[in-house]
Amino acid sequence: MKNTKKKEKVFDNKVLTSFLSDSSLRECSNIRIGGKASYLFTPQSVSDLVLILANTKKAGLDFLPVGGGSNILFGNVGDRVVILDRDLPKICEVNDNQVVVSSNYDINRFLNEMMEFELGGLEFLAGIPAHLGGTVNMNAGAFGKKISDYLDWVEIINPEGKEEIIQRKALKFDYRHSSIDGFITKIAFNLEEKTREKISSDMQSILTERRKRHPYDFPSLGSTFKNPPGYFAGKLVEECGLKGSRIGEAEISEKHGNFILNKGNATFKDVMGLIELVRKEVLKRKGIQLELEIKVIN
Ligand SMILES: Cc1cc2nc3c(=O)[nH]c(=O)nc-3n(C[C@H](O)[C@H](O)[C@H](O)COP(=O)(O)OP(=O)(O)OC[C@H]3O[C@@H](n4cnc5c(N)ncnc54)[C@H](O)[C@@H]3O)c2cc1C
Repeated sequence: MKNTKKKEKVFDNKVLTSFLSDSSLRECSNIRIGGKASYLFTPQSVSDLVLILANTKKAGLDFLPVGGGSNILFGNVGDRVVILDRDLPKICEVNDNQVVVSSNYDINRFLNEMMEFELGGLEFLAGIPAHLGGTVNMNAGAFGKKISDYLDWVEIINPEGKEEIIQRKALKFDYRHSSIDGFITKIAFNLEEKTREKISSDMQSILTERRKRHPYDFPSLGSTFKNPPGYFAGKLVEECGLKGSRIGEAEISEKHGNFILNKGNATFKDVMGLIELVRKEVLKRKGIQLELEIKVIN
């Protein structure tokens, strides 16, 4: 009750129709950790999203788009306005080898639909529990490829609440980073013509490789740390003898040293404890400062 009063002051009533009250962030993160947010929205239309962002700006608050939640660790999110993409309209339009798709498409569903059009290229992302908006924002990559190589343009709602189309050449992409500032709503990709059979067999080999290397039996956020130039973060963790280390119910995977698993009811503090342990030990023993790949929201 106390919370609702506060929200009404910041957001007008129209926006409140898409307000998801009393929801926990736990279900919004793939590692299944998270408490309550003061402001958690699931807009059902782009015009709702525009209103939410315009009101957020007016109130002087920060916003956080959430897609698949496969790279976000929630702590205390404070007054951040958390906006889920899941209820926005889903579109996917194919024109020759160009595809315009809404950012809330699940990556695996997208790859399977594109296979029917004999369009490929992004199979290296098969098996990632993410949405397209998150993968473009993070410039997701694997097996030597990255998503920005297939991008033509993005449509965003900028922090002022205005719609903008930004061409690929106006954006900067680095390792797990993009210069995009706003909520991505649509993405245009230029894909490769590829037979259904080839796409399917490439996806199968990627999935087999991932299952071989990565732990899929407990919730995680994938790679916790970026690979420092010339090194693999997972290997450094292993060489420091930290695989299997546990704090509370969070554990460094025995299978892959860069994955932290939620073995039950792990907390934000448990995961942060392991992150600090790894950073300290890798710095002490290897002289390397590890940088986070996951987004810690606290
Ligand atoms: C099992 C597993 C395997 C993984 N393997 C890989 C891998 O091989 N390669 C790789 O690169 N990553 C991998 N990841 C990490 C993760 O899937 C990627 O970082 C992915 O890009 C995140 O997408 P998401 O939709 O889940 O984004 P989220 O986790 O929801 O968000 C990630 C970031 O993107 C922002 N964001 C989300 N949606 C939007 C939007 N619509 N507009 C603007 N910003 C947005 C968020 O604010 C946040 O900063 C893996 C994760 C797991 C759990």
